[in-house]
Amino acid sequence: MRITMLGTGAAFPDPDRAQSGILVTLDNGRHYLFDCGAGITRNMVRANVSPSEVTAVFLTHLHHDHVCDFPQFVITGWMWDRQDSPVVIGPKGTQHFVSHLFEGGAFKADFDARSYYARRKTNLAAVRPKVIECEPGIAYQDEHVTIRCDWVEHIPREISECFGIRFEAEGKAVAFSGDTAPCESMVRLAQDADLLIHECTFPQSFIEHRKKSGVGIFAHTSPTELGQIAARARVKRLLPTHFGHFDSTSALIKRIARHHFPVEEMGPHLMDDVVRDIRKHYAGPLQLATDLLRVDL
Ligand SMILES: [Zn+2]
Ligand SMILES: [Zn+2]
Repeated sequence: MRITMLGTGAAFPDPDRAQSGILVTLDNGRHYLFDCGAGITRNMVRANVSPSEVTAVFLTHLHHDHVCDFPQFVITGWMWDRQDSPVVIGPKGTQHFVSHLFEGGAFKADFDARSYYARRKTNLAAVRPKVIECEPGIAYQDEHVTIRCDWVEHIPREISECFGIRFEAEGKAVAFSGDTAPCESMVRLAQDADLLIHECTFPQSFIEHRKKSGVGIFAHTSPTELGQIAARARVKRLLPTHFGHFDSTSALIKRIARHHFPVEEMGPHLMDDVVRDIRKHYAGPLQLATDLLRVDL
């Protein structure tokens, strides 16, 4: 199988990265998408894959940086002659999110305009996604893949559920954390995986800063903690992702982020610190994710 990192950034628009999105392509050509943050559909096209050909989308949680390209993904599939309904798997609230987008929803005017054309009337299924709100356990299965999921620790569950996943196909296992603080469920999902794709949103100093600043969520995994998780789960390969702009050189991001981060510390040199801290505990193959990075398993 082939893994294409469509987006490796976090909640801010980032000049260097799209938001969260991972495409898994089986040897038989079937595609599965994990998360659909801003910029994912465009990067999918850059990777030479049509949104109309993606079988299923798993949304790990409903933070905007994991879902806000979903309308673009679905409407593009509709315009590009998709015939079936995309399957969307996600936490509680996914049905609400999807039901309020297309017919009668936020994109009603687009739906009314486009469905006026004869050819678009023939594939309305493409803009009527089938939603599965998952529970911990097997979230989705077809003759090619099994997707297991479990709750992770990012947003209090009574506010909004967040899932990590384990994707199994072709005798291989890939685990993806979504967004989370270190948690036992992720260690279990990642056990002996061929590849662990795990969030690494902030260095430790940024997490500490955010705990005090009262801005946004600080339930993320530090590089040192990620090294411990990868070592405990005995993963064969580690791909940290969902980088929270801490390495940015953008003057605008630095100016805007001053209430969020210790901006005087920001810069690409922090990626060296990330690797150093992961290496305190994990000695296996390690690569920091970048947009459009391809991994063959
Ligand atoms: Zn996120
Ligand atoms: Zn999040």
